[in-house]
Amino acid sequence: MIAEKLQEVQAEIAAAQARRTRVPQTEPVTLIAVTKNHDVAAMREAIDAGATQVGENRIQEAMDKYEKLERQVTWHLIGHLQTNKAKFAVRYFDLIHSVDTPHLARALDKEAGKIGKVQDVLVQVNLAKEASKSGVYKEDLRPLLDLVDSLPQLHLVGLMCIAPNYADVEQCRPLFREMYEIFQKTKEIPFQTSNMKYLSMGMTHDYRIAVEEGANMVRVGTAIFGPRQY
Ligand SMILES: *Cc1c(COP(=O)(O)O)cnc(C)c1O
Repeated sequence: MIAEKLQEVQAEIAAAQARRTRVPQTEPVTLIAVTKNHDVAAMREAIDAGATQVGENRIQEAMDKYEKLERQVTWHLIGHLQTNKAKFAVRYFDLIHSVDTPHLARALDKEAGKIGKVQDVLVQVNLAKEASKSGVYKEDLRPLLDLVDSLPQLHLVGLMCIAPNYADVEQCRPLFREMYEIFQKTKEIPFQTSNMKYLSMGMTHDYRIAVEEGANMVRVGTAIFGPRQY
């Protein structure tokens, strides 16, 4: 069941790539299987069916699963991160998608330094300025990018955004299009170490549109694992 769903999502991504008009169709897309609120058995099933990337949004849940999983996989922290959990985040996650304040960036830099790691991160943008969501406003993006670039234990590799949950999913399109334009512009910034290669956007309801508009990393949970039990 999970294996079939995973294949369906992969096929949908390929179809969306083929529909791209303003973005290179050949630009590959990384699929993150969002496993939050699903158990280790479901995670193993997805990984054994070919998933290589998993996304979690809570530190404690990820730590518990990490111990039990017995699979090699790339771990993505996709949820909001509190500064006081930075030390756990750098220990367990390969890519942290949710850097959105100077305070958090500095905390991650410090904790990564303590374990001798250079931590890959994305900066999260709150493009629609939703009060309920985290992320930096686009007006404040450049200073945060420059700060993250300057921190020795952080390696900035792109941007992340979460679109509003519109009833009509087509309403996401202009936002994704603008995000892609912002992403392209950041590639021209003369950074020291940053390498703006990932644009993480798109979830179950909107990943097809996100891929059409230039996402090269999507975070899909429900379409693979079914509804979450809270
Ligand atoms: C839960 C979550 C997802 C996946 O959501 P689905 O609708 O289940 O695909 C993607 N991104 C973030 C940041 C999430 O918290």
